[in-house]
Amino acid sequence: MTEEERIVSLDKRENDLDTNSIRPKKLDSFIGQEKLKDNLKIAMQATRKRGEPLEHFLFYGPPGLGKTTLAHIIAAEMGVQIKITSGPAIERPGDLAAILTNLKEFDIFFIDEIHRLNKIVEEVLYPAMEDFALDIVIGKGPSARSIRLDLPKFTLIGATTRAGLLSSPLRDRFGMIGRLEFYRPVELEKIITRAAKVLNIQIKDEGAREIARRARGTPRIANRMLRRVRDFAQVKAAGIITLEVAHEALNNLGIDSLGLDNTDRKVLKTIIEKYEGGPVGIETIAASTAEEADTIEDIYEPYLMQIGFLQRTPRGRVATALAYEHLGINIKKEPFVAEKLF
Ligand code: ADP
Repeated sequence: MTEEERIVSLDKRENDLDTNSIRPKKLDSFIGQEKLKDNLKIAMQATRKRGEPLEHFLFYGPPGLGKTTLAHIIAAEMGVQIKITSGPAIERPGDLAAILTNLKEFDIFFIDEIHRLNKIVEEVLYPAMEDFALDIVIGKGPSARSIRLDLPKFTLIGATTRAGLLSSPLRDRFGMIGRLEFYRPVELEKIITRAAKVLNIQIKDEGAREIARRARGTPRIANRMLRRVRDFAQVKAAGIITLEVAHEALNNLGIDSLGLDNTDRKVLKTIIEKYEGGPVGIETIAASTAEEADTIEDIYEPYLMQIGFLQRTPRGRVATALAYEHLGINIKKEPFVAEKLF
């Protein structure tokens, strides 16, 4: 299956037009993540009063939970411009300098996948974040000297799938660190209903609930499923998304009652059938399933852990009794219990 066909994929490019129109523009229309929103509201109010830029902010959590959306919202609420880029896109210090010197006072600079910045670029970022300054080296060899260039006071918002992937000097330079959690089905239902309204899709409450239940706690997946189910409804069912239509469309896509797709099942089955339920290392799972270890760690594992199907132990990953039950496989040996190790 190609990355494009995969409903749970990391790919953000598809249907950008739709994505932009359904992205909430205000904090009040951003559903869920209440604790994080409260902290953001307080920070924004306080800095507005003091006439200062917002502190640098790091968002972390699995893909598709709203990190980029929040950065857009913060810029809109603060009435400033936002410049968006990603870690791998900034190849040289000069690329970073070009962006930073073009920012205006209080602008937001958003770096997605910030853990993928290269070391040299990262070191240029430190004084920029701390002192709003760029240290530029002029000349080469013994005559080289460094001059300091002042930058506008900007706010850096970094996004990463795992905070642990950041180097600690970079992590320490963020004033606030916010973790995005998986969404509850009731929250996803609201997100789906709102997106359906924006996209002019007719959907019954039960239809929205069914998609929400299978969307792995992730708005990007919920929105993507909504579009696929819409196609199905238009071809097979007079355009209206009912419970039956959602149910049948998602089953056709290989999405099961808990939102697991073929790859999730492949990962679990590999652990269970080839490695007797684990513990087994992530690299071994990756090799046996022909998936990237990073993809498993970023996309598949967090949700499987969230629903209690997978445990992470010092010796590797373990499939739980719940996973056996869901896949209809009998447990042959005593399932591994993580606590036994400690
Ligand atoms: P991330 O940057 O964490 O990968 P995005 O911000 O790109 O995720 O969000 C993915 C999609 O999900 C966007 O199209 C956005 O419209 C939608 N989305 C995310 N969070 C919410 C939310 N809380 N309410 C409504 N829609 C959301």
